[in-house]
Amino acid sequence: MGNLIIWTVAVSIIALGGCAAPMKLPENSNRIATAEAARLRADARLAHREKWQRIRRIHHALSLANGDLCGDQVAALSGASFDLNSAYPKSLQAAPSVAQEAEQAITVSDVIPGSAVDRAGVRPGDKILAVNSFTAGEKPRAWLTSVVMPALRAEAPVHLKIENSAGSKVISVTPDLACDYPIRLQYSDLINAYTRSGTIYINTGILRFSRNDDEIAMIIAHEMAHIQLYPRYRGQIVEYNADYISGYLLSRAGYNLAKALDFWRRLAIENPEAIDLQRSGPHPSIAVRIYLLRHLDREIKNQRQKGLQLIPNSPVDRDPFTGVD
Ligand SMILES: [Zn+2]
Repeated sequence: MGNLIIWTVAVSIIALGGCAAPMKLPENSNRIATAEAARLRADARLAHREKWQRIRRIHHALSLANGDLCGDQVAALSGASFDLNSAYPKSLQAAPSVAQEAEQAITVSDVIPGSAVDRAGVRPGDKILAVNSFTAGEKPRAWLTSVVMPALRAEAPVHLKIENSAGSKVISVTPDLACDYPIRLQYSDLINAYTRSGTIYINTGILRFSRNDDEIAMIIAHEMAHIQLYPRYRGQIVEYNADYISGYLLSRAGYNLAKALDFWRRLAIENPEAIDLQRSGPHPSIAVRIYLLRHLDREIKNQRQKGLQLIPNSPVDRDPFTGVD
């Protein structure tokens, strides 16, 4: 009897399902979906800009504070950025008509606090009318990439005519000399960063996983160290050296190594096999890395207390833990 009721209910559900009318979509569904996609892209562009600004600020601070350790791989940095369509991932680039509309004037979209343009008084939203007496002309976007951006990366003072609600004025900007290790943001959930041909690639997975700027600074500084060490060291030794140099690079930029170490603890929880002390492959055990980084944190704090300039020792040729080269 009980079974019969269940069967009846089941059959009715199937029958109802079979009889239900197919979902009827309005005639203009395509237009509605297109509008939804446009809203999503606008949100994603905004989120991309926030991620990129955060990475840029940390990368700028590290590059600026360590120019003297980057040998001849230095370049002038001004700290201004512009909302370039080409800076977005392909899927987020605006349609040409929209992009052209935005090209009416050259507007500064972001100013890194403490940077050369910030010190000169440039603020986000300021329009650039002339650079060293050259004006924008008919094609401001081409002028931006051919004149404005190169001038802001030159190792010489640049005169900018800027305009904002307070009026227009000419100011002088002297770009700072900094490490020239470019950085790119990649959309990938993998908690990873790497370098290729002198450029740092950082995954969005690192941003999602990190809990503070110190952790992100540690990862970027580690990759900067890889560029400095390339191609002299191999295997786990290069990782120990990159960790060691990164502690100095980030400390000199005002970040705190001790506040970054929890990154490794959480990464070990995500990848338990990486805890193994006899770990083979390119990366040493996370346990050993944390131990050595704590040791390094004390070394840096000691130097600070003595009022010494923070300069890392030469890279090591042997595994600092096992003594094996
Ligand atoms: Zn590495």
